[in-house]
Amino acid sequence: FEPIPSDFYGFENALSDQEKQTIVALREFLEAEVRPIMNDLWMNAEFFPRHIVTGLADLGLFGQPWEETRQFENSAVFRGWIALELARVDASVATLVGMQNGLVMGSIAVAGSPEQRAEWLPKFASGELLGAFGLTEPLSGSDTAQGLQTVAKRDGDNWIINGAKRWIGNGSISDVTIVWARDADDNQVKGFIVPTSTPGYSAKRIENKQALRIVQNADIVLTDVVVPESNRLQGSKSFRETAAVLRLTRAEVAWAAIGNSIGAYEAAVKYAGERIQFGKPIGSHQLIQELLAKSLGNITASIGLVTRVSAMLDEGTQRDEHSSLAKEYTTSRMRETVAWCRELFGGNGIVMDYGVVKYFADAEAIYSYEGTREMNTLIVGRAITGKAAFV
Ligand code: FAD
Repeated sequence: FEPIPSDFYGFENALSDQEKQTIVALREFLEAEVRPIMNDLWMNAEFFPRHIVTGLADLGLFGQPWEETRQFENSAVFRGWIALELARVDASVATLVGMQNGLVMGSIAVAGSPEQRAEWLPKFASGELLGAFGLTEPLSGSDTAQGLQTVAKRDGDNWIINGAKRWIGNGSISDVTIVWARDADDNQVKGFIVPTSTPGYSAKRIENKQALRIVQNADIVLTDVVVPESNRLQGSKSFRETAAVLRLTRAEVAWAAIGNSIGAYEAAVKYAGERIQFGKPIGSHQLIQELLAKSLGNITASIGLVTRVSAMLDEGTQRDEHSSLAKEYTTSRMRETVAWCRELFGGNGIVMDYGVVKYFADAEAIYSYEGTREMNTLIVGRAITGKAAFV
């Protein structure tokens, strides 16, 4: 018996042959290098060994959309499939790629000058540099557009940055962190390329996190950090550019949420065929079949939705509310799906050896980062009513 594919309606068939080959190479890499070690890394809250980072770079995953580094033609739909495939094995590795390729390189690509793009993007694309994206603060999460408190003060050819950041993925191990700070003179938010060796930059890992444990998140303190004007992202004039970066990455998080659901679903299908209760595999029982069918329904509907929202990005018609609806919808469906799949394992569903609990726990982080459900709902609500409810 061959189980039906998790991409039940065959959306992946729309990819080109070259794109499919890249997906196959990625799957092989993940099965060989990531799957065997991911549960131990997760349990020990240990970051990936460096060869995983360079392996992902060798596959071209850090250069994808950017002119200076792209290794093949690709579309937003293809990039979405990459995010899904990564998260299908491990949401931490998907988050790593999303941070490096999307948030960090995206900041430089969207708001950097041509010289900054040429100088920095190839170093991130090759994995020579590991980046972090520093926007959220201890006192400002959902409201960073209004509430950001880190300050950058112009001083001749330099800027002096003071403030604090929280939740910054890779912040304690990155070579460079993109720091978003408010210009003390015009009060606008601007982005700065900050090498983490700069005096006054200190980062402390957030301990005891119970989701995405392989990704290291940090509390960062910036005390009189001096950054040359040449490291200010030259195109960043206000929060508008920060929002443009987030717009690029939000739909990819929606894809990653589906991958995380598929990881749990595929583990559940396997277990349903193996676990015997009442004299037959639990997959023969009607209510177990219902859990699997509902999970596949969520996955299938979600893939259809994100395929269209990414196509809109390729067409140039995607707006904030489109990607927000996708992130809100797929992460909500993910939360249902991973819970059903965990339930199917009974007690074994909370033991790491059976794997499904990792997808269950990681879902909570994906649900909250890159805009919580509430924030994305309010962005859609604003588009429906013309009224912003969050200000
Ligand atoms: P808060 O903003 O304090 O919100 C708390 C609750 O209140 C949420 O449910 C929220 O939806 C709700 N809420 C707030 N305002 C309203 C309102 N007006 N109406 C209704 N409900 C409201 N940030 C980075 O800059 N870089 C990173 O690399 C990064 N990585 C992350 C990785 C992980 C694992 C996590 C968990 C977070 C990461 N973040 C990162 C931060 C993330 O973007 C924030 O956690 C998120 O934006 C929410 O902010 P908050 O946690 O401060 O929650």
